[in-house]
Amino acid sequence: MPAGLRTVSDMLSPADFRSIVFFTGAGMSAESGIPTYRGAGGLWHEYRYEEYACQAAFERHPDKVLDFHYLRREQALSCQPHAGHRVIAALSQSHPGVTVVTQNIDGMHQRAGNERVIEVHGSLWRMRCAEHGVTRDVAAAAYAHTHCPQCGRWLRPDITWFGDYLDEPVWQAAFDAISDCDLFISIGTSGVVYPAARLPELARAHGARMLCINTEVPDNAFLFDEMITRPASLALPQLFPLLVTPKE
Ligand code: NAD
Repeated sequence: MPAGLRTVSDMLSPADFRSIVFFTGAGMSAESGIPTYRGAGGLWHEYRYEEYACQAAFERHPDKVLDFHYLRREQALSCQPHAGHRVIAALSQSHPGVTVVTQNIDGMHQRAGNERVIEVHGSLWRMRCAEHGVTRDVAAAAYAHTHCPQCGRWLRPDITWFGDYLDEPVWQAAFDAISDCDLFISIGTSGVVYPAARLPELARAHGARMLCINTEVPDNAFLFDEMITRPASLALPQLFPLLVTPKE
């Protein structure tokens, strides 16, 4: 553990904070069964992102890229939110100042009952036309529409692929929530994917109390006041024990 970093063993009282941001990454969903991209068992060991997760690949083989994302959706549907997702959702229902800012595209926070979720890398559950905006397709188990009804172009998943820009209004919403929070809890993110990795720096610059939950000490650990090196599904119920809800 880097010098100066303390461990948290006590519970936190949500009422002590006006505005709480949970900033989540692939490690948040790992215990639900959704693979990370980079770590052991990560997707990019099996698939080359140049073939499946960039605009150039989509333009070459749209059907192949959509099939790949369709599999990601099927996989997400076969997984369930875990106790950590449920604790955050319960807190958001009892505290008006809770926002989730996630890098994940799997919709797991919403399935656990979170309403205020800012998805900085988009969502597997939406499609968009580069020309005519977003077509929502939240519940369907398949990509129901693959072409834009206005121009006939292929619709692409509304997620941030390699080389894409982030959605400006979404990024601004994340920026605003994080600039204003007094407690920032990072969960399951390695802090190496930019520009999202700037968000903990922003929270720190604005004086939030900084907490990190990760099974390993990440490279950006120096930004945090406190570190819990436990899996998210154990750490969150430990931190907020009064909010643990039974599995539905
Ligand atoms: P990452 O794969 O770079 O890092 C994952 C981090 O989670 C690691 O630091 C690891 O130590 C930690 N971790 C693993 N299991 C954990 C657990 N049970 N509890 C707590 N921590 C755990 O992920 P990243 O930082 O989110 O960056 C990857 C990018 O890929 C993101 O931008 C994201 O958009 C995308 N992605 C999304 C999903 C998804 O939607 N579920 C899955 C894979 C990747």
